[in-house]
Amino acid sequence: MHAVAARSRCAPKRLCSASAQASAHPLAWEYLKGVERLSFCDWAGRNVCVLFFGGCNLACPTCHNARIAWAPGSVPSLSRAEVLGFLKARASWLDGVVVSGGEAACVPRLAELLEEIASFDLPVKLDTNGMLPGVVETLLDRELVAAVAVDIKGPWRLYPALTGGCVDPETAARRLQAHFAMAARRPGVFSFRCTTVPLLTQEDIEEARRQLPAGFELTLQPYKEPRKYARTDLQA
Ligand code: SF4
Repeated sequence: MHAVAARSRCAPKRLCSASAQASAHPLAWEYLKGVERLSFCDWAGRNVCVLFFGGCNLACPTCHNARIAWAPGSVPSLSRAEVLGFLKARASWLDGVVVSGGEAACVPRLAELLEEIASFDLPVKLDTNGMLPGVVETLLDRELVAAVAVDIKGPWRLYPALTGGCVDPETAARRLQAHFAMAARRPGVFSFRCTTVPLLTQEDIEEARRQLPAGFELTLQPYKEPRKYARTDLQA
């Protein structure tokens, strides 16, 4: 039921063209739905805070942040002033800021928000599902992002199932290959990761690994059951 319901959420024909819609949208801060004040595991070797933005162009049935991804309007936005105040107070203790979601690359006027963060002299890492290479390239060209972590959901042929019907195999391959090309031009900037969701077999994971060009690594992330379905909720 979850996957079927998710199908209607994606809009592959209008995969969030932030630049085209900029003037019609409110500030990117209005999409900010959560902050993790300190994380040691979201950017290797760095103490960072993580900003979670609402909205997503996919509908993965195993989504961990389904509420902010699919119903961002149901989650109050954080105050820009409070978050900027937090960053100002903590900038000297942090090694960077991770911009995550949802799909942060979908957020209209994200570049303007990143320009504000840049004033704290904190490098930014972008987490992305890999469907908006043009947005990623623009942010890199403007030096608003120092690192990019890209999801490889699995073998291209499984993208329809892995994304709730939002992406066909050809589109997945084309958009991820655009990231591979960017990564080849910018050594050390990109990392690629795959969450080992239940749909993927070991053979699928090996197939996904083979999709990366030589010299690129695929980091595996263990799948954790989405909290709304976690057994611990039933035990609480
Ligand atoms: S790309 Fe990420 S945030 Fe979007 S639906 Fe998939 S798992 Fe959820």
